[in-house]
Amino acid sequence: MPSKVFFGSARQARLEAKETLPAKLDLIINELHLRERVKDETVALKMHTGNNLSYSTIHPVFVRRVVQAIKDGGGKPFVVDVNWDAAGAEMRGYASEVIGCPVYPAAGPDEKYFYEHERPYKNIQSWQVAGLIQDATFMVNFSHIKGHPSCGFGGAFKNLALGCMAGKTRGAMHDTMHFDPYFFPEKCPDEAARKAIIAVCPFEAIVEDKKNPGYLHLHPEQCNQCGRCLKVAPPGSLKIDAANFHSFQEACAISVDLVLSTFAPGKTTNLALATHMTPVCDCFGFTSMQVLPDAGVFGSDDIVAIDQAVLDVTAKSTLIEENLPTSMEVHTREGHPFRWLHGPYKDPYVVLEYGEKLGLGSREYELVDVLPVEQVERSSMQYIAAH
Ligand code: SF4
Repeated sequence: MPSKVFFGSARQARLEAKETLPAKLDLIINELHLRERVKDETVALKMHTGNNLSYSTIHPVFVRRVVQAIKDGGGKPFVVDVNWDAAGAEMRGYASEVIGCPVYPAAGPDEKYFYEHERPYKNIQSWQVAGLIQDATFMVNFSHIKGHPSCGFGGAFKNLALGCMAGKTRGAMHDTMHFDPYFFPEKCPDEAARKAIIAVCPFEAIVEDKKNPGYLHLHPEQCNQCGRCLKVAPPGSLKIDAANFHSFQEACAISVDLVLSTFAPGKTTNLALATHMTPVCDCFGFTSMQVLPDAGVFGSDDIVAIDQAVLDVTAKSTLIEENLPTSMEVHTREGHPFRWLHGPYKDPYVVLEYGEKLGLGSREYELVDVLPVEQVERSSMQYIAAH
């Protein structure tokens, strides 16, 4: 049976508060029966509070409404984020006086509070699930949708996969992209040939490996898989391979599997806000121009279904190419617009294929619009009444 995904569109019929996204979030909270599910629960509200000067993360108005609903239901909410983002959250508006609850670093201020989970995958043997996540009895996974340089897209999976692990595991997850060899030095012994490979990349995505003279090191985040380097590399010396890129997405699916396994069935739910979607992750420490039009707010108990629905809805829009930084290029216009932005091997749907195989949810879903714009009777704009 398809999973239900509740959706509030960013579009309005009337210019009235009840048709705006915070009001539609309230309707989604009702549909998810959040209040009825959190009595006496210790509720981790996992979100990304951004970093440094970013201002496109989930606005405190939305956070306050979720926190209030949890409190109204008799739950004990707290926001969690990784330590370096939680440390500056107050500067970006996430103060307890504003949002209604404290913001804690998920694995403690020094990233030393975690639980080890054995699950061998490429370079990772043991995964460190953040202590405050595993200690919580209920979790609301509230993600902000944006592009991501490692996997094309940051949504519900990414919010948990990286944000619920301690720092050592987050680093190791990025290193999975280097596990399968992609440079074969015996086929490229000539330094001039290596320099030619480095020079042809306009994004400085391939460099000399500082630790291994004679080796080349790929920065997958900067690589859009344009293939220029392959044209100058000696035959067989270099691979730009889907396997290296997809390993990060598989690691994200495994991480989410481990995180969700620490909660009893029915004790997690997901919200997602698809507004001001920028090219890269909120942890970069700034906000750039939006590359997709605002889509709306989503909610579902199924983490696979919510990301699938977000991608399907946002895929109906075209990438706003005039808003891209001049240092990025589009060389494919196939698939999801985030794929245009980050290249074909950073297909945002891949993590959902892995997630579905692990039994984390269903890519089949029913999208339930909580306030369809077509069903709202049009009326002329009303002025704010003078008092
Ligand atoms: S594929 Fe393109 S972006 Fe990636 S390393 Fe090669 S030249 Fe650079």
